[in-house]
Amino acid sequence: MEGTILVAGDERPDADSAVAEQLRRLCTAMEEHGLRVRWTHRTTDALAVIRSESMLMGMLAGWDGGGEKVLDAVTKRFHRLPVFLMAAEQEPRDLPLWVYEVIQGYVLLLEDTPGFIAGRIAHAAEEYTERILPPFFEALRKLEDRHRYSWHTPAHAGGVAFLKSAVGRAFFDYYGERLLRTDLSISVPELGSPLDHTGPIGEAERNAARIFGADRTFFVVNGNSTANRIVGHHAIARDELALVDRNCHKSIQHALTISGARPVYLVPERNGLGLAGPIPAGKLSAEAVRERLADHPFTASAATPEPAYAVVTNSTYDGLCYDTVRVAELLGASAPRVHFDEAWFAYGRFNPLYDRRYGMAVDEESLPGPSRPTVFSTQSTHKLLAALSQSSMLHVRPAPRAPLDYERLNETFLMHASTSPLYPMIASLDVAAAMMDGPSGPFLTGEAIVEAIRFRQAMVRLAGRIREDTARPDWFFGVWQPDEVTDPRTGRSLPFENADLELLSTRPECWTLAPGAAWHGFDDLDDGHCMLDPIKVTITCPGADATGGTTEWGIPAKIVAAYLERRGIVVEKIGDHTLLVLFSLGITKGKWGTLIDALIDFKSAYDADLPLAEVLPDFGPSGITLRALCTQVHNKLRDANLDDLLDQVFTDLPEPVLTPAACYQALIRSKTERVPLRELANRTSAAIVVVTPPGIPMLMPGESTGPDDGPLMSYLYALEDFDRTFPYLATDIHGAARDESGHYWIDCVTT
Ligand SMILES: *Cc1c(COP(=O)(O)O)cnc(C)c1O
Repeated sequence: MEGTILVAGDERPDADSAVAEQLRRLCTAMEEHGLRVRWTHRTTDALAVIRSESMLMGMLAGWDGGGEKVLDAVTKRFHRLPVFLMAAEQEPRDLPLWVYEVIQGYVLLLEDTPGFIAGRIAHAAEEYTERILPPFFEALRKLEDRHRYSWHTPAHAGGVAFLKSAVGRAFFDYYGERLLRTDLSISVPELGSPLDHTGPIGEAERNAARIFGADRTFFVVNGNSTANRIVGHHAIARDELALVDRNCHKSIQHALTISGARPVYLVPERNGLGLAGPIPAGKLSAEAVRERLADHPFTASAATPEPAYAVVTNSTYDGLCYDTVRVAELLGASAPRVHFDEAWFAYGRFNPLYDRRYGMAVDEESLPGPSRPTVFSTQSTHKLLAALSQSSMLHVRPAPRAPLDYERLNETFLMHASTSPLYPMIASLDVAAAMMDGPSGPFLTGEAIVEAIRFRQAMVRLAGRIREDTARPDWFFGVWQPDEVTDPRTGRSLPFENADLELLSTRPECWTLAPGAAWHGFDDLDDGHCMLDPIKVTITCPGADATGGTTEWGIPAKIVAAYLERRGIVVEKIGDHTLLVLFSLGITKGKWGTLIDALIDFKSAYDADLPLAEVLPDFGPSGITLRALCTQVHNKLRDANLDDLLDQVFTDLPEPVLTPAACYQALIRSKTERVPLRELANRTSAAIVVVTPPGIPMLMPGESTGPDDGPLMSYLYALEDFDRTFPYLATDIHGAARDESGHYWIDCVTT
């Protein structure tokens, strides 16, 4: 068995006492059981091992000295790790009561033989490794251990079929036998059914429901895209009204199409950096919704006058998360079912920093009374927890006012599920949940939060030092975050970079978007409505600010991103003047040092006016410097006024003409055609057109493009012009095709 045992007391490994001698023998005996032993006699070392050694399977702790601290640290990281208290001959007396709950027993070093003690510890460690396995993963391992012959699908039969050809063998060797052996058919009864939610799979889903705080959880292995389609397909009947966050994923649009919904969009804020903000609370209220519905073309012939469903993206790509309890209360006044698309936020429940900010936080306790809606939360477990791609979860918490029959919900689930899911993916969901269980969730999320905050503070300090240094131009990259935070314990405010880590990593108040604060640049916010998640870090380039928009001088983010990519750093998302980086669970400590280093090097290259060919070979025009290119592109961005034009697009949403379902009927019956931009005015789009950033659809299927000088057309003309001027920096635009000369074409319904 692999695993580490920590020996932490005040005895030095090289001491010549009888106890040390006995301990040395004990260590040897434990090693004979295949265990690795780490013996430390300093509390700080013991604490470091507890923090960093994930394979800890047991611990021997002394009480004198730092015992109390060490035991406390263990309970904050591990759930029921076998801990033995060491003593020479007699059990320590009068320990604090909590210690008895933590320890599994005593080891009396001078009373028992090393062989006996080692056997006891090895046994406890083995039991522990059994105990930590979640239900499905455990059953799968047991089954695979038996090495049976299979007569069922998949035809590769545990990988054997691959061995019959050279290319198959290459695949087999690459992934290894175990992945293939655990790729089993749904007809293996011991593992239960992913379609009926029985046996170990059902148990795993119930375990996940407990961990994620849901009434029920469904494992969805076709991605959160499918989870979203399931929710929409189940929650909205044909021609019912749906309130939809305009900042929604394409899969929500699919759900509206297959359900035959009549969508009415709720528009989020946008700031001067082009980032999408929250939908203000004022637009979610019953009154605002009533107003929105009153003059909407889809309302008159809707199946019912009240919306059946509302969906909100939480958190946004850029890390803005809502007070979900408040949002459920507000939207619940108009719709009996509220769906939070939490593709980027599966970890929300596992750190107190996100208290009340995730969908499953809405329950009888947080929102008592008959007005609570039934809440759905869909999560791409794979996006920010440790699970294989496509592995996602659908969590449900029903409320009496919109009763939910799980058998019926399962009918919808089955319409979107495969009858042959990949079991290693289900195992990865089971494990991802177990990794968040108990103290491990706060510990692991806490690590990511702390690393992100360290990076954020380091960036601000560096910018400060650059400003003070008279030898260099004083610009540097910024981070989108508050400049000051208020310590709720003292009421004093202090510069962000001077706030202590403990405060920033535990107090949500430090991250909420205060109404009117200049750093975030969003209007119409209520206090506490929205919070910035520290692990989603937006780096800002000079050239735009959150309140004012594009400034006179600047450096386009796309050029910085191209430079970073050459240095082996790939960012998550690129805006006009922003770069998004994620500090996920997979972050390694100090990884961000490389990023800061690369940003400093970019600044040096820019300040030294180096030739572009030297800094970014094969990029952009020749015979020009990096700085000249930045200036050209920035000036174009500024003069084209893209930012204001886009604001207009979202202020004056396009007029809906056809429902998504009607539009789709035209699409599959070839009643659509590709139309060039110059002929696009007043046509009905058949496509969803999204420009990232902000990543909010500007045109949905079934919506009108409006007049030639209207907001949408003006924006598209300006964007096309920009892309044709700088083809190597072309905008990431979904739903529009480009021809050879860079002109946009968009699919429209045939007139
Ligand atoms: C990625 C994403 C999805 C889809 O999730 P997949 O697991 O990739 O299918 C849904 N909604 C949002 C907001 C997303 O970002």
